[in-house]
Amino acid sequence: MTVAVYAGSFDPITNGHIDIAKRAAAIFDKVIIGIYDRPQKNLLFTASERVELARKSLANIPNITVEAYSGLTVEFCKKVGARVMVRGLRAIADFEYEFEIAMMNRKLSPDLELVCFMANLQYQFLSSSVLKEVTELGGNIESLVPAHVVKALKEKLGKHA
Ligand code: ADP
Repeated sequence: MTVAVYAGSFDPITNGHIDIAKRAAAIFDKVIIGIYDRPQKNLLFTASERVELARKSLANIPNITVEAYSGLTVEFCKKVGARVMVRGLRAIADFEYEFEIAMMNRKLSPDLELVCFMANLQYQFLSSSVLKEVTELGGNIESLVPAHVVKALKEKLGKHA
């Protein structure tokens, strides 16, 4: 059985992340969404809120589970028995950063394989940080995240739905 971990901040989960998670779930036996709980990172949602938003977004996919973790991602992968780490790649923006982490992770855990999925065209310019900014400025984000995430974002940022 091949277990894959798709790790990230997911602050909050977007349709771009959901697309990658579903595509990974179609290939691997089990996909674990690892929500990185790093207190010093400047995040809008708490780890448990991010877990809940992701769980609700992927509840209809039986081989996807969501859990929070702290510490090294490679250690989390080892703990849950994952052989594969999944990442999503948007054009230009992600490659250098992902390449750097990948090389470090390879050093830390040579047996862990990295599989990158190319972001779909409609999500190439979607990031959690831009999403938060657009919400704050009152822009329409309905085609970019599930309805429960729209609601959570508006509540957090003091906007009325
Ligand atoms: P991190 O803090 O690790 O960058 P993110 O939550 O921003 O966490 O992203 C997690 C993973 O999802 C990364 O591999 C990132 O490149 C990928 N990702 C982010 N946004 C998108 C998107 N719109 N389409 C596809 N993949 C994405």
